[in-house]
Amino acid sequence: AFVGQTADAATGTASIIVNSEGQNVIVIVPGANLLLNFEDLKSASDVICQAKVVVCQLEITPAVSLEALKMARASGVKTLFNPAPALADLDPQFYTHSDIFCCNETEAEILTGIPVGNLEDAEKVGRMLLERGCKLVIVTLGAEGCMMISVEEPIPKHVPAGKVRAVDTTGAGDSFVGALAFYLAYYPKLPMEEMIRKSNCVASVSVQASGTQSSYPYRKDLPRDLF
Ligand code: ADP
Repeated sequence: AFVGQTADAATGTASIIVNSEGQNVIVIVPGANLLLNFEDLKSASDVICQAKVVVCQLEITPAVSLEALKMARASGVKTLFNPAPALADLDPQFYTHSDIFCCNETEAEILTGIPVGNLEDAEKVGRMLLERGCKLVIVTLGAEGCMMISVEEPIPKHVPAGKVRAVDTTGAGDSFVGALAFYLAYYPKLPMEEMIRKSNCVASVSVQASGTQSSYPYRKDLPRDLF
């Protein structure tokens, strides 16, 4: 309902290059994404403020994303933030306005200066982001699943992903974040670790075929306890 067309910029595009191990690099040209503004947020405010969960990231102007998080928060809506693509000088209010702050290894390094090569590094990142005001931090670790740490449970937990043959990991993070938003909205009483385990499972399905929208053929293989 809130998607419009503009003659003032080209459609946002991302050129994706995938290597034989399924790893990718992405060149993003935001185009019209950067035209989304505070007025657009205002027109969608009823929907934002009545949502169960609001997911934001950085493919639109960061200040607009931040405002959406603030609007959601002010109405008691759960906020899930994915700092992608990463910005070294992220406004610190993103940390305090996200109920869940979910980043991958590259984003974690850009935000904290800590290169993330293993679980211990991810735990260091998690602790640092809690100090910056996050309530719950998830660092996704590709085939290793992810690490979670929170103010309530300050002992970091590793939530492993299932072993699969990755063909193309493009969109794995988005798949993870989307699945997590689904569980937060529809199964809010599930323990967080369980939501993350299920989200790992959804994301690990997404890496088994090329492209970012190809989980459908695998849907029949999804474990029944995901839903
Ligand atoms: P991004 O796509 O942002 O780089 P990751 O590579 O960390 O994010 O992947 C996000 C999630 O996708 C992981 O936490 C995991 O659940 C799943 N995933 C990614 N790569 C694999 C893999 N090779 N095997 C199984 N699961 C994977």
